[in-house]
Amino acid sequence: MRQIIAAGLLLLLLLFLPPWLRAEEPSPERSVTPQSLQTEQAAQESGAGSDAAHTLRLWDGSTVRTLTAAEYLPGVVRGEMPAVFEPEALKAQAAAERTYLYYRMSAAPKANHPNADVCTDPGCCTSWLSEEDARAKWGENFQQYEAKVQQAVADTDGQVVLYDSAPIMAVFHSSSAGATAGSGEVWTAELPYLVSVKSPEDSDSVPNYYSVNTFTAEEFRAVFQKAHPEAKLSGDTSGWIRDVALTDAGRVSSAVVGGVTVTGKELRSLYGLRSTAFTVEADGKSVAFHVTGYGHGVGMSQYGANALAKEGKTWQEILQWYYTGVTIGLYNG
Ligand SMILES: [Zn+2]
Repeated sequence: MRQIIAAGLLLLLLLFLPPWLRAEEPSPERSVTPQSLQTEQAAQESGAGSDAAHTLRLWDGSTVRTLTAAEYLPGVVRGEMPAVFEPEALKAQAAAERTYLYYRMSAAPKANHPNADVCTDPGCCTSWLSEEDARAKWGENFQQYEAKVQQAVADTDGQVVLYDSAPIMAVFHSSSAGATAGSGEVWTAELPYLVSVKSPEDSDSVPNYYSVNTFTAEEFRAVFQKAHPEAKLSGDTSGWIRDVALTDAGRVSSAVVGGVTVTGKELRSLYGLRSTAFTVEADGKSVAFHVTGYGHGVGMSQYGANALAKEGKTWQEILQWYYTGVTIGLYNG
């Protein structure tokens, strides 16, 4: 019951989070269990559980369209992961998106679209790029990229990430900072399959892996005091930020700014930082945040998935790396 309540709370929070925050590392590798293989075989013989057998309602901002998962999923893979990524990473993304779709379909509809399961607004559900838009975006690379996307969906047909036989909340993010964050570090609920694990991507493989946000004393103060007028920020910046506390995964959990305790998440939001994995440098006249990675850090790291694929990991191994204690199998719900 606690798990259900916790998952419910997390879901509520997610209603207000854009996908790159959702979206957005190692557990022992596990293979597909004999039981799920049997299920898979039986389902494939009957066609049940395949993407073509699942119908969903997609809100595109003007109308509700009815699509099969086979028609819908290429759009989210196109929209959420660079098509230049390794085939196994694209397959992991396809299975994670399918899992998230079925997770959404098993929950109450979102208030934004009470008559649809998912929408195309990345600020609400997940990015969705139509074939037509992908043609325009990818230009001469369209045929090559589209083939990879379609292959990723087809090769994982019907397969989802399961915990206790149910589709998980398969959140992901762009890149981590050595390790992913546990769900409890970022949201309120600790989910057993969303715990911190190592993630292999680095500055050689991730654009803007390290970023710096610098603010003058005046800029920093204006932003902070707008949110916290009681903060005492005067004179030299070097004493403004104190007691920076880190999570086990090395992200900022809290800090005291001008006498006011705030979370790392709030600082990320206030100053537009790419993640909560940052250090602070205050030299007296300015404040600089040195940031690593991009996104909330929970669940699968997309660049980490690509790095694991380059090491030879399969899409199932990648998913089981980032989602602890899960199995991969067909979902017939
Ligand atoms: Zn939506």
